[in-house]
Amino acid sequence: MILIATNNKGKLSEVREILGDGVISLAEAGIVSEPEETGLTLRENALIKARAAYQAAQKAALRNLSVIADDSGLFIDALDGEPGVNSARFDVPGKRREKVLKLLSGVDERAAHFETVICYYDGVHKEFFTGRLDGIIAEKNRGEGGFGYDSIFEVNGKTLAEIHDKNNISHRKKALEKLKIYLEKNNGLEATSRP
Ligand code: IMP
Repeated sequence: MILIATNNKGKLSEVREILGDGVISLAEAGIVSEPEETGLTLRENALIKARAAYQAAQKAALRNLSVIADDSGLFIDALDGEPGVNSARFDVPGKRREKVLKLLSGVDERAAHFETVICYYDGVHKEFFTGRLDGIIAEKNRGEGGFGYDSIFEVNGKTLAEIHDKNNISHRKKALEKLKIYLEKNNGLEATSRP
């Protein structure tokens, strides 16, 4: 069984789509784990979340569990990589996209990328898997779908909030595919089948 260190329904269904049903969320495992994300990189924060969830599972006497945790961010070239690891804390909710658009107002160089780091931890093995999606920051919000910075992040002329197959091209999907290969090689997926 694999415990994913999140209660985010979108993330959980995206992970299940790729890894199958043997993945449970913190809430489903009856665990509360909300460590402070004090890392300076996505990798550090993914490890902090994975370790904290693993320790919480041990405390709850949930054995034979491996844990996965992810951290993602939007990196904008013209802002020296900001908001990056601070993407979720760049401003108060609802104002983050406007802040990016304001900072890039009149700026021609609009290249940016999303990045995800997934940490796998089973108490012994610690592995990291990364995924990246390149694009540009749009001039204004466009599209109804998605979340976070989706409506200002453009790939091939459309924002991620305007397309329907975002989960097929996303940074998270790319990292999950690498994790899946690792689990298959190490028989980890067999261990994820629900009893
Ligand atoms: P998390 O680590 O996956 O929770 O992502 C941190 C922050 O990055 C989120 O709060 C979002 O603002 C932003 N973010 C991460 N992935 C995406 C995405 O796919 N679309 C839009 N925003 C994202």
